[in-house]
Amino acid sequence: MDLVAYVATAPRRGETVTGHAFRTVPGGKGANQAVAAARSGGAVSMIGAVGEDDFGVRLRASLTEAGVDTGGLRTVEGESGTAHIVVDGEGANSIVVVPGANGTVDGLAHGDERRIAAADALLLQLEIPLTGVLAAAHAAREHGVRVVLTPAPAQPLPPELLAVTDLLVPNEHEAAVLTGKSDPYDAASALLASVPEAVITLGAKGSLYAVRDAEPVHVPAPRVKAEDTTAAGDTFVGALAVARGEGRPVQDALAWASAAAALSVQRAGASASMPHRAETDAFAAG
Ligand code: ADP
Repeated sequence: MDLVAYVATAPRRGETVTGHAFRTVPGGKGANQAVAAARSGGAVSMIGAVGEDDFGVRLRASLTEAGVDTGGLRTVEGESGTAHIVVDGEGANSIVVVPGANGTVDGLAHGDERRIAAADALLLQLEIPLTGVLAAAHAAREHGVRVVLTPAPAQPLPPELLAVTDLLVPNEHEAAVLTGKSDPYDAASALLASVPEAVITLGAKGSLYAVRDAEPVHVPAPRVKAEDTTAAGDTFVGALAVARGEGRPVQDALAWASAAAALSVQRAGASASMPHRAETDAFAAG
């Protein structure tokens, strides 16, 4: 759950300031990607955990409302994962993430392997322990399911995880952390040493698609007025996974995912801003 406080100037150490607004918004990269994929027309199961608190009830409900199957979402003792966000008058933010229940997802539970095996793709992020990410990735590989990894929050990845990743989707910052290269073209070619396919997202500049033995392709982003870019990357990945799962050619799928992400940045909120399939179709058609 994102707990967002809006202030003119963020407090310094030991200081108390008065904010002018507060919102609680269902978030989390995994949940955001699940909602984006479901709105894009995918049949989605979420594997993860919420706490026994009120946030857990609301987080589960927001997934259910989006049409996501929450059979793999366990409720565990303690608090749900939270992000404590302070947004200042210039729109800059500082964030404290407390994993809470997410920290308990350190492996697969009963029924998770079956859920993974039934899918076209497994979408992974790094807001649960790496052991949980690895267990899911190995199960997917075993069943011939495509593994799509968003390496966020940015951190170095164990070779064991990269070895079972089919598609890596970092943003520019994450790509630089993974490769030590700030130029996206250099970063893309470095990533291909570890994974067969990568998309580096570049915000308003679009994205860079790279696959082994071919020149990288730049996919421009539609020009829109950005209101709130929270979860743009998650919207992009969710839509991309659905389009690829339907067997669309890569270029079409990337253009469609870019359309979905461009729609999402024009509206406030994380999951609330994510477009439904028909909207993305209409926008992509121009
Ligand atoms: P993240 O949200 O993970 O940091 P990005 O900021 O790179 O990821 O955004 C992901 C994708 O969302 C981009 O590749 C682009 O397609 C789309 N996007 C992001 N910001 C904008 C924008 N201002 N205008 C249009 N599309 C955008």
